[in-house]
Amino acid sequence: MADIIKLLPDHVANQIAAGEVVQRPASVVKELLENAIDAGATTIKLIVKDGGKNLIQVVDNGKGMSVTDARLSFERHATSKIQKAEDLFNLNTKGFRGEALASIAAIAHVELLTKTELDEVGTQLKIEGSKVIAQEVTVTPKGTSMLVKNLFFNIPARRNFLKSNQVELRHITDEFHRVALAHPTIAFHFYNNGSELFNLPIVNFRKRIVQIFGGKANSKLVPVNEETQVLKISGFVNKPEFAKKSRGEQFFFVNDRFIKSPYLHHAVVAAFEGLIKPNTYPGYFLCLEVDPGTIDINIHPTKTEVKFDDEHTLYALLRSTIKHSLGQFSVVPAIDFEQ
Ligand code: ADP
Ligand code: MG
Repeated sequence: MADIIKLLPDHVANQIAAGEVVQRPASVVKELLENAIDAGATTIKLIVKDGGKNLIQVVDNGKGMSVTDARLSFERHATSKIQKAEDLFNLNTKGFRGEALASIAAIAHVELLTKTELDEVGTQLKIEGSKVIAQEVTVTPKGTSMLVKNLFFNIPARRNFLKSNQVELRHITDEFHRVALAHPTIAFHFYNNGSELFNLPIVNFRKRIVQIFGGKANSKLVPVNEETQVLKISGFVNKPEFAKKSRGEQFFFVNDRFIKSPYLHHAVVAAFEGLIKPNTYPGYFLCLEVDPGTIDINIHPTKTEVKFDDEHTLYALLRSTIKHSLGQFSVVPAIDFEQ
C-alpha cells in the first residue's frame, strides 16, 4: 500500500493551533497586551471596535522589532523569549510559546507597524490568513502597533459562535482588568468604538485597583503581606461584609501573571470561615511572588493555569496570612449582615 501520511502545510498547522490560542477577541487582546509588556512598554493603548470582532489594535512604546524579526515573529515557534528547554523553568516573560502571532495571523487580517530605537525607519507588514501581502519601509515611532481585523474571517463556524458585541466587549474588559492590575507601573488607555473606557496613569497596586473599580473599592481593602524564604504574598482582600453571592473581583497574580486556581481560591475562602455567610465569596487581589523555577506555567496554551511545586504549603500559608490580616483589622463577624 502507498504511504499516506503527510506533513501539514504551515498555514494549516497555524490554523489548528489558533483554535487553542484564540477562542474569542479577548484572547487576541490578552496576547497582544502581553507582548507589549514583554517588549518593556511603559504606555500601552488598546483600541477595539464592535467587541473586537472587526478591529483590535494594541499600540506600545516598547522596544520594537527589526525588519527581520518583524517577519519572523509570525512564524510558528518563533520567539525571542526562550532558547532551550531549561528556560521553561526560569520564565520572566509573559510569552514563551512563540505561537500567538502565528495563530492570530492565520485567522485574521493583521497589520504590523514597528521600529526599534536604533533603526531610522520602521517596518510595515500586512498578513492575511498567514500570507504576507505587503511589506514596506515606513516612518513610525519607536515601538509596535499590531492591528487585527476581521477575526475568524476564514473560519465561519468560529465567527458565528461569537457572542454579541456587548458580551465580547465584556470578555475583553475582563482581560484588560487582569493585565492592568498586574502592571500598575504601566500606563494603559482603552478605547471602544471611539470612546475612552479607561485612562490609567502609572500608580501603585492599591491605586490601580481604585482606578479600575472606583473610589468605593478603596475602603473595602484589607492589606495582606507575608514574606518567607521562598515566597512573597502581597495585595488585599475585601472586608468580609462585602462578600457577595456572585463571583467577581477575585484575582490571583503569580509573578505578575493573572492565574485561575480553584485550590488557592479555596484557601482564601477558608480564611474567611465564620466571617461570611455560606455561599458568599470575598473579593481579593492577591499577588504571589515565587522563584520561577518552582512553578510550571506550560500547562495550557492560554497560560492561566500554574502548577506549584509545593501547593499544600502555599495553601496553608495563604490561609493563615489572610486570617491574620483580617484579625489585625479586628473585623466584626458579619453573619447577620443584610445585603
Ligand atoms: P511569544 O510571545 O511566546 O514569544 P508571539 O507569537 O506572541 O510569541 O511573539 C513572537 C515574537 O515576536 C516575540 O517573542 C517577540 O520577539 C516579538 N514581538 C511580538 N510582539 C511584540 C511587540 N509588541 N514588541 C516587540 N516585539 C514583539
Ligand atoms: Mg506572545
